[in-house]
Amino acid sequence: MSARVLDGTAVGNQIRGELRPRIAEFTARAGRPPGLGIVLAGDNPGSEIYVATKLKSAGDLGCRTDLIRVPAAASLDEALAAVQRLNQDDSYDGILVQSPLPEGMGPEAEQVVFDTIDPAKDVDGFTPVNVGLFVQNRARLVPCTPRGVIELLRRSGIELKGARAVVVGRSDIVGKPMAMLLLHEHATVTVCHSRTKDLPSVVREADLVVVAIGRTAFVQPEWVKPGATVIDVGTNRVTDAAEVERLFAPDSPRRAAFVRRGALVVGDVHPGVSAVAGALTPVPGGVGPLTIALLLNNTLVAAEARLARRPAMSRA
Ligand code: NAP
Repeated sequence: MSARVLDGTAVGNQIRGELRPRIAEFTARAGRPPGLGIVLAGDNPGSEIYVATKLKSAGDLGCRTDLIRVPAAASLDEALAAVQRLNQDDSYDGILVQSPLPEGMGPEAEQVVFDTIDPAKDVDGFTPVNVGLFVQNRARLVPCTPRGVIELLRRSGIELKGARAVVVGRSDIVGKPMAMLLLHEHATVTVCHSRTKDLPSVVREADLVVVAIGRTAFVQPEWVKPGATVIDVGTNRVTDAAEVERLFAPDSPRRAAFVRRGALVVGDVHPGVSAVAGALTPVPGGVGPLTIALLLNNTLVAAEARLARRPAMSRA
């Protein structure tokens, strides 16, 4: 039996379709479109692709988008200055700083830069103010990837109330907020990480498993309870032909895709899990498109909240 595919591309398109008229309505009311400013520091090729996709998606829906580039050799102060300019410019509702930042900016750079973003414009939901509100279940701006996962589960009719959920990975960006959101949805949540003892037996207890660790095909079919829902957040670039042959059957379209492109994006979950799980997100086409859709949603949410806060006189 093959697991039901949870189609993130379709749900992402659905969310975007819902946002389009709301963005048009905002633009008519505010006299300007929602504005998203993305700070890209350095020249990481992966970041270039992610940022281009985010800018295009936001532009397609009618948002104003701007890319602020900071050179790889720039100082942390220069990155902070770019964020401050966006904080002060009223035409931007959302600010996103693409990670990773260049190593030369130092190990604490990302935290320092995120801390500088105006919480009202923090469309990633990473600032301490928004994290605090989120833990109390009263945040407007929630991290996009885990929020996208919840939207996919809801729209796919997967019951979360009372479900036994296991989140593998505890990053501030995915694992921790994922666990918190599932808790808010009344699941019973366990969070696992690199020091978890006997990970397979913990995963085996789950009705819902969310994996975000950045390790190719790590979660094995025999770890998964038959019929469980499995969300694969991982995106790992595989360029080794032998690894592709180990992971995918000779007739798999993924092998043909590898031959065409010389590389594949593979998740943290072994492809064989589809024979055991009840529902599974594909990689690509699962969580990724939802992350972008929720970023656009957050940009609109931030724009609406900022407009509502402005005095009536200055809205005219
Ligand atoms: P991260 O910051 O590197 O965190 C990885 C987490 O995985 C850590 O908590 C780590 O545990 C845990 N881990 C590593 N090896 C493990 C093991 N052998 N067993 C159990 N846990 C292990 O990664 P991230 O930013 O959360 O990203 C995770 C993956 O999701 C990456 O592939 C990333 O590219 C992908 N991602 C995708 C999207 C999307 O939109 N599709 C968005 C964000 C991230 P410790 O804390 O103990 O070190």
